[in-house]
Amino acid sequence: MTVHAGEAAAARWYEVRDVGGGVARISEPHVHQILRANVWWLRGTERDLVVDAGLGVVGLRAGVPAMFARDPMAVLTHAHLDHVGAAHEFRERAAHAADAGLLAAGVPASLYGPELARKLGTDDVGDPFPDVMIDALPYEGYDLGAYTVPGVTLTRSLADGERIDCGGRTLTVLHLPGHTPGSVALLEEHTGTLYSGDVVYDGYLVDDLPESDPAAYRRSLEVLAGLDVAVVHPGHGRSFDRARLRHIVTRYLAGR
Ligand SMILES: [Zn+2]
Repeated sequence: MTVHAGEAAAARWYEVRDVGGGVARISEPHVHQILRANVWWLRGTERDLVVDAGLGVVGLRAGVPAMFARDPMAVLTHAHLDHVGAAHEFRERAAHAADAGLLAAGVPASLYGPELARKLGTDDVGDPFPDVMIDALPYEGYDLGAYTVPGVTLTRSLADGERIDCGGRTLTVLHLPGHTPGSVALLEEHTGTLYSGDVVYDGYLVDDLPESDPAAYRRSLEVLAGLDVAVVHPGHGRSFDRARLRHIVTRYLAGR
């Protein structure tokens, strides 16, 4: 185990990068890539929207205080620890109804790899789980064993086709089950931007969790392959274009 207690790590826990068009990507460089998820901060003229809420080792309110200046609504793409860790910090929290029960119960969580694999019910996520899921402590004396994700109730329950208007930008909810029953993506039609959560990203797609449904996952990816999108901002890793989206989907449907 090579966890270092950098005293400045909490202040630098999140990396915020402006990707243009009033959108910023927030990532957690000290989190192992299995759990290193993207948070997307979208600025509207009326209100801001935050897609997903990180792992919650450091609060988003403490780590990226500017994000909370306009009381944004958090939209959670699905109920997994690396996407909802700091969801409880938002006054308004939205997700698909099919994942509401998992969210309310408090999703399975641990910073110890073997314990996390056991809680998640799989160790087949493309990479072996490391002993510890972070490579730096946010502050001296941080207690890895005390990490949990609090249960969150939703203030807004999302359904397929529903539109979220932020002023100057409108996102359409796409219910794309398979990774989890309530997995959603958000499509901003006027820019052709898809916020895809864990439905699709450029990496090993996880379809064998206890709450996963591989047949539904295939149907969801077929839907995505037919979408006219310019860019995908995924739940993990780098953004990509439509050609890459189709390649990823084709690869998955062919059995990887
Ligand atoms: Zn997930």
